[in-house]
Amino acid sequence: MKSVISELSVLVTDDSLTQRQYAKELCQDLGVSDLHDAANGVDALQVLESCSVDVVLIDLEMPIMDGVELIRSMAQKKYVSSVIILSAKDPILIASVGTMAEADGLHVLGTFQKPLLPDALECSLLRFIQDAKNQAAEPKAAPENEVTAVELGQAITNGELTLAFQPKLTVHGLMLKGVEALARWKHPHKGTISPGVFIPLAERHGMIDSLTRHLLQVAFQHKKNWQNYGLRFNLAFNLSPLSLADSDMVEWLCKLTEDYGIAPADVTFEITENALLGELASAIRTLARLRLKGFHIAIDDYGTGFANAQQLSRVPATELKIDRSLVHRSAARPQQRTILASTVDLAKNLNLTTVAEGVETEEDFKIIYDLGVDLVQGYYFSKPLFPDDLLAFIKTGLSQLRRQHERK
Ligand code: C2E
Ligand code: CA
Ligand code: CA
Repeated sequence: MKSVISELSVLVTDDSLTQRQYAKELCQDLGVSDLHDAANGVDALQVLESCSVDVVLIDLEMPIMDGVELIRSMAQKKYVSSVIILSAKDPILIASVGTMAEADGLHVLGTFQKPLLPDALECSLLRFIQDAKNQAAEPKAAPENEVTAVELGQAITNGELTLAFQPKLTVHGLMLKGVEALARWKHPHKGTISPGVFIPLAERHGMIDSLTRHLLQVAFQHKKNWQNYGLRFNLAFNLSPLSLADSDMVEWLCKLTEDYGIAPADVTFEITENALLGELASAIRTLARLRLKGFHIAIDDYGTGFANAQQLSRVPATELKIDRSLVHRSAARPQQRTILASTVDLAKNLNLTTVAEGVETEEDFKIIYDLGVDLVQGYYFSKPLFPDDLLAFIKTGLSQLRRQHERK
């Protein structure tokens, strides 16, 4: 099983010599040396017959045999390669070809509008490696909850995507410091679909930017309403690493905060630890610009990846969110507790606000309290709440919670 990008074999299919060269250079920059190319579907099939290829980049518009025909032939011949689909056409159309390819049994790593961006390619190739690992570890999940990229595109337009908000409280005094916005898809037939399903789908099909921009507007509208009620607390929003590669995002965000009358210092962008690994230099650049504009930056899910202290110190972050896997049940697990304690120390030395995620029990909270963590978030205090329930929590739930703790 291949475990790093440099071991992959990649075939670039595009009728334009310049585009082929460009895609091959991107692959080379990521360390791929086993590279093949083809100017049309017929040549691509010849390459696939003669050697084993892991990933095929397919341009949809090609003479002789176009991308759609190539995908069909690959499926019929049961080639096992994974595909990345590219086109200059609009993202919904490209995504629908991706859905068709998946229905044909091909493994689609991504569908993107041209030009192919380095981060999108890197994420897709990393996904190949991750999926191969997952496949080796467990059989495929049941498909009941499956949704397609086309359905997601429609859901964004129809306003089926909304946000729930989970309180972030101070460890001392249980004061409301902020809320984290968590995406929810209220599907008309399939119930509520978790972001763990549709965020990766949006990332794979070039829809993450439109989804993110839509949800940011929803989040800012709520924040503005809260401010109008005289409630001022921080709003945390999760950003995909792919959104950080969107070069217009920073300006767009500054304009949005102005339009809604929101201070950048009242907004925190959460970005996962793993997104900061690898060569995603553009991510760090965007984060630095966001920080300069006054936004806060949190490193999310810390403890699930492999970022070392040096990598961590390179990120212009203000907050470290310690993952639930380190927090929950650490009382009963001495080793986990040691890692948790040293993570808190590291964050303090780097001058980062510490947040413990996934605090589910009183025992979890006690450990967090004793370690001097700044903020807590978790089911023990509150689940993610829709706006009306959040207001009720602020009005009555929070003071009840404080009274319960005073008695302990
Ligand atoms: P996350 O950013 O780590 O968010 C925390 C997740 O943990 C949420 O899951 C939350 O419901 C859950 N959680 C909170 N407290 C507890 C607890 O005490 N115990 C347990 N077991 N879980 C708890 P959710 O809402 O399903 O979100 C999953 C992930 O999807 C998020 O993880 C985040 O990475 C991503 N996500 C959510 N909304 C967005 C979004 O708008 N944009 C992007 N790019 N990603 C999002
Ligand atoms: Ca988060
Ligand atoms: Ca997290």
